[in-house]
Amino acid sequence: MRINRKEILRLSGLLGISLSIPALSFVASGKTLKTGGFYADLEQLRKLSHAIPGDLPDKINVTKVADTIRPASVVVSGESADKKMTLARTVYQLVFPNGSILLDSGMDLETHRTFGKTEEPYYPENFERVKKALDKANLIILTHYHADHSGGIIRSDRFDELAPKVWTSRETAELLINKPHKTTVKISREKVERFFITDFGNYYPIAPGVVVFKAPGHTTDSKMLYIKLANGKEFIHSVDSGWSMENIIEEKMKNASWVHENQEQLLAQYKWLNNIINTEKNITVLCTHDNEQYNDFIEKNILGNGLEV
Ligand SMILES: [Zn+2]
Repeated sequence: MRINRKEILRLSGLLGISLSIPALSFVASGKTLKTGGFYADLEQLRKLSHAIPGDLPDKINVTKVADTIRPASVVVSGESADKKMTLARTVYQLVFPNGSILLDSGMDLETHRTFGKTEEPYYPENFERVKKALDKANLIILTHYHADHSGGIIRSDRFDELAPKVWTSRETAELLINKPHKTTVKISREKVERFFITDFGNYYPIAPGVVVFKAPGHTTDSKMLYIKLANGKEFIHSVDSGWSMENIIEEKMKNASWVHENQEQLLAQYKWLNNIINTEKNITVLCTHDNEQYNDFIEKNILGNGLEV
């Protein structure tokens, strides 16, 4: 008899919520928000970032393996169709005194080609460094199942070595198996089950200073991260909640019907992120595909340029 995984997930998800969140916290804290299927408590994230003892990460590095150029009207509802926006296909690296964690894995050229109708910029030398950083990483966090995030692992010729240190949620694992995002990233259950797959409620402290939390909306398996560096600086990595910070700040949806997002959940995330942007001056919000942020944060030394290998 097959176990009904969905039912288990639903129950474990609900259990996680009921155990970890006192009902009164909604009223008690302005930083707590529960609307439309998105919930995150900043104070809880801060506490959990110290749940795992050890040195906090020293810095966050970033690289991009490709660009996708889309009409601004597709990225942000209401924007001009004549204006173009560049979406960077990034990979982030958390550098600790004794190791590193990668956030997602980029993608190879063949997978990149499945995204655009025309040939778009690809940075092979950056992807070569991603491959080396994947080898070197202690852990690789898969934020969601999409090919621009998972392709670097799934298509790796070193899959067998990488698989045991790929961490993801059960939701992501099932989507990788049952709903491959692109033809190039089809993968068997047997291979996915070699990942380090975790069922959890809302939050998962994964390393000193790093907490993953569930943020379904962009996809049903999407996760965000809270990151605290040794120098005290804090980050919320909003992953693909918005493709651009403009989505978040203006609270404007993407206009890409093929992505099938839950707009109610995304709107709740945008409101939560805006509350943080406006009230928490120590926190920087990261956005995976925002190319302007990518350039700006490298220039300002908020993010390190390129991965250490
Ligand atoms: Zn993405």
